[in-house]
Amino acid sequence: MSRAVCTRCGADRAAIELACPGCGHRPSRDGLLVAWLVSDANLSPEDLDAAAARIRAGQPLHPTRAQLERARRALGAHLTSDPGLPVSQRVALLVIGLAITPLPGLILWYWWRASRPRASLQALALSLPAGVFYIVLVLVLRLA
Ligand SMILES: [Zn+2]
Repeated sequence: MSRAVCTRCGADRAAIELACPGCGHRPSRDGLLVAWLVSDANLSPEDLDAAAARIRAGQPLHPTRAQLERARRALGAHLTSDPGLPVSQRVALLVIGLAITPLPGLILWYWWRASRPRASLQALALSLPAGVFYIVLVLVLRLA
């Protein structure tokens, strides 16, 4: 069984993505990166005990950029490990961007930028030209 320390109250839990039995805190998004850093995937049992004691004492965690990057890589949300969007979704995003509005692609780009970096960039790459096309089309239709 794996062990993770709650980043809010310092209690033990079985996995980083589970709600804390002590306080109910369930990390999400970047909180998962910090949660991974104080889990047995990253720390020895002794270091975990020390981290739990610090959290219980009210000392905030200040992970460095390098630590967060290591956690991101370990959790798979990295440009090199994110598989990105399948072709069908890319085509759908482009068609929606050109025919209706590029807004969904821009929202997905913003939404996914930390958790799915490759999919996020693909959404931006498909929606930005569609957005320019959309604006030009609106201007042309207004002038005509
Ligand atoms: Zn907790």
